[in-house]
Amino acid sequence: MDLLHFIQGEINTAIILITHDLGVVAGSADRVAVMYAGRIVEAGTTQDIFYRNAHPYTQALLKSLPSPDTTRDEKLTAIPGTPPDLINPPVGCAFAARCKHCMKLCQEEYPPEFQVGEGHTASCWLLHPDCPTPEERGEK
Ligand code: SF4
Repeated sequence: MDLLHFIQGEINTAIILITHDLGVVAGSADRVAVMYAGRIVEAGTTQDIFYRNAHPYTQALLKSLPSPDTTRDEKLTAIPGTPPDLINPPVGCAFAARCKHCMKLCQEEYPPEFQVGEGHTASCWLLHPDCPTPEERGEK
């Protein structure tokens, strides 16, 4: 990472990092695009993604990280299920089978990109203005 930062300063260029290491993301990136099953599901500044995230996959990903208080015996929170088969991708939202907020529409139609804030977007039906409330969806 030091070498990349050095090169970036020397030639004044942008760098695209593709990583699963959210520590590297937090420490290096200005903007973050979260991908699931080959598509960007949420994009925004690093602050947006870590503190104002809106997509259930981003939220689940961040919940699965250990915190500085996590002890050796503590189990980390895993995202249930497995990623979809990309040879036969699902019709609707690719995260539907693993999402605790999944609705019927999620399995039928891929969600469009919704504006969450300035320069912050996410593809999730929960962001549709007509989306039922958690109570209406039967969630707590
Ligand atoms: S579109 Fe539906 S299944 Fe996909 S992340 Fe949003 S709530 Fe979950």
